[in-house]
Amino acid sequence: MIVETKTRQRCERCTRPLAHCLCSLIVNLPSRTRVLLIQHPDEVKHALNTARLVALGLQNAQLVVAETIENIERYIQQPGYRACVLFPGEQAQELSSYQDNQQPLLLIVPDGTWRKARKILHCNPLLAALPRVALTPGFSSRYRLRKAPDAQALATIEAVTYALTALEPEVDFSPLLRPFDALIEGQIAAMGTEVYQRNHVDLKR
Ligand SMILES: [Zn+2]
Repeated sequence: MIVETKTRQRCERCTRPLAHCLCSLIVNLPSRTRVLLIQHPDEVKHALNTARLVALGLQNAQLVVAETIENIERYIQQPGYRACVLFPGEQAQELSSYQDNQQPLLLIVPDGTWRKARKILHCNPLLAALPRVALTPGFSSRYRLRKAPDAQALATIEAVTYALTALEPEVDFSPLLRPFDALIEGQIAAMGTEVYQRNHVDLKR
């Protein structure tokens, strides 16, 4: 039996319950790199919808929710930008090697579980054909709420923040993480510290 609970009123902008609205923590940062987030529809209702926080926090970012994107050319063929997909793999180039690139990157970020992110690439051959870039290994997540398959697993907002930092080291992108930190702290507080420590692996080092 499915028990339906009355949905709490949500902030239209950040989609959090009104009492936990994160908008006051969301910045409005400029970047040379353009970010295109492609969110799997299954992720929209996820409590930690961090792709949306990225799209709100960056001036030069766009969020598309779809598994198969219609007319994908209009998103990936942006004049003046060189498109690439942030996705790990043997053929992926490390982002730091793009620092001196004359042309700024259009960084396309599939958002979802690994399986869903792969599905997005599979459903959009034009996306799958683009060059791939990856973060330099060694970042650990602040996301301490569920056991990650490995310590490298990052929330989308963390991956984008670290990617932008690698591409534009002169800019401080850390304020982008403020609403994410508050989200995590809020979830830990709601859960109770004791339960949290018993059930969750701390990935923060
Ligand atoms: Zn809000």
